[in-house]
Amino acid sequence: MTLKIGVIGTGAIGQEHIHRIKNVLSGAEVVAVTDINKEHAAEVVKVENLNAKVYESGDELIKSPDVDAVLVTSWGPAHEESVLAAIDAGKYVFCEKPLATTADGCMRIVDAEVKYGKRLVQVGFMRHYDKGYNQLKDIIDSNNIGQPLIVHCAHHAPEVDDKYTTDMAITDTVIHEIDILRWLLDDDYVSVQVLYPRKTKYALSHLQDPQIVLMETKKGIRIDVEAFVNCRYGYDIKCEVVGETGIALLPEPGSVLMRSEAKKSVEILMDWKKRFKDAYDIEIQGFIDSVNSDKLTGPSAWDGYAAAVTADACVKAQETLEIVPVTMKTRPEFYNRL
Ligand code: NAP
Repeated sequence: MTLKIGVIGTGAIGQEHIHRIKNVLSGAEVVAVTDINKEHAAEVVKVENLNAKVYESGDELIKSPDVDAVLVTSWGPAHEESVLAAIDAGKYVFCEKPLATTADGCMRIVDAEVKYGKRLVQVGFMRHYDKGYNQLKDIIDSNNIGQPLIVHCAHHAPEVDDKYTTDMAITDTVIHEIDILRWLLDDDYVSVQVLYPRKTKYALSHLQDPQIVLMETKKGIRIDVEAFVNCRYGYDIKCEVVGETGIALLPEPGSVLMRSEAKKSVEILMDWKKRFKDAYDIEIQGFIDSVNSDKLTGPSAWDGYAAAVTADACVKAQETLEIVPVTMKTRPEFYNRL
C-alpha cells in the first residue's frame, strides 16, 4: 500500500521531509502540499518533481479524500489547529515539534485524541530514532552503569538569526533535551532552574547566550544542559550519563580522523540537518510503516504535552531566575496502553 501524504508547511524541515519521502523512503508519496505562501508550495512541487496538488489551506488539505495522512511542518503557532483538524477528520498526523506552543494547547490535542479513542498523533522528536541515543538507552536499561545519578548535556549551534529570542533557547533548542531525557531515563521532571553565565560577544543584544538549564527528575537525577547557540565552532550535541558504577557518553557522529600539519583532527558538523539525517529518515519511515499497519508507536501527544509543561516552567525560570516546580496533569490511562 502506498500512503498518500499531505504536507502543511513547505519551509526548511517540510522540504527535507518531502525530499526524503520522495527519494529515500518507501511506502508513501506526497500527493498534497500547502503553505501560507502558495507560490512557495508550488515551487517545492516543481523542484521535487512531485505529482502533488497545492491546496488553498491546511483545512482543505486535511479534509481531502485524496489525503490519507498529514505531516505538519508549518511554524509552531499553526500546529495545534492542523493537528486538531486531522484528529477531527480521523487521519493520522505527524507534527513537528512543538505539538502546540502552550501546554494548554497540547492538552487540547491530548483530550481530542483520547476522545477519538485511538492514537493518531506522532510528534517529531527525532532523537528517539538516533542510533547513539538508542545505544545510550540500551546501556542504561541493562544496568551497565548502575542507576543514573547525574546527566551533563550540551546543545551547541554555530549561530542563530535575529528572530531567535532568549525563550527560544528553551522552546526551540533545549526542548529536544527535555524530551529525550524523559525517554532515556524513563522519568519526569519535578523542578527546573535557568542560570545565565557571562554572555558571548557573538550574541545579539536581545539574546542571553549561553544559558545553563538545571533540571531535577522524580527519581532525584540532576541534569545540566548547556545551551549555546552562537558557539561558532559547530553543531555539537553532548550527553554524558553518570551512574552508580560507570559513565556512558553519547557517541560522536562517525568521521575520519585526519593526521595533517602536525595535528590529529576530526571534522565537527555545522548543520543540524546532517547531524540527525539518519534519525529523520528512520523517524518518517517509522511513521509511514506504523500508519500502514494502523498502529502508531512514536513519540505521543502526551510526550508533546510533557515537554511543553517543562518548557513553560523553564521559560518562567528564565524570567525569575528561581527554581520553578514542574506540575503535570495525570497521564490518561489511554497512553499507558501504548
Ligand atoms: P520555516 O523554514 O520557517 O518553515 C515554516 C513554513 O511554514 C514556512 O514556509 C512558513 O511560511 C510556513 N507557514 C507559516 N505559517 C503557516 C500556516 N499558518 N500554514 C501553513 N504554512 C505556514 O521553519 P522550519 O525550520 O521548517 O520549522 C518548521 C517547524 O518544524 C517548526 O515548528 C520547527 O520548530 C520544527 N523543526 C523541527 C526540527 C527538528 O529537529 N525536529 C528541525 C527544524 C524545525 P513563511 O516562510 O512564509 O512564514
